[in-house]
Amino acid sequence: MATQSVDRRRCLSCNRWGGERRPGAEPDTVDYDEDNDRGLCQDGPWHGSSRRGPRNACGQWIKWIALETPPPADQPPQP
Ligand code: SF4
Repeated sequence: MATQSVDRRRCLSCNRWGGERRPGAEPDTVDYDEDNDRGLCQDGPWHGSSRRGPRNACGQWIKWIALETPPPADQPPQP
């Protein structure tokens, strides 16, 4: 398993990327399998290409929504 920082703004951490990944243990990191690191660009400039990976990037990168910090849970109602 490998890890890449969101700061690199590669396809791997882009919301338009359809490959196998999961949020890393550290904030703003992505864990992925180096032997399975290619995925599909969806609705970006490389739309339809399934060969995008951790070394690819483009100017329309948007952060993977799964890496956004969730909003705080609602407070329970006061009695
Ligand atoms: S080519 Fe651009 S839009 Fe497509 S997955 Fe990569 S960074 Fe995202």
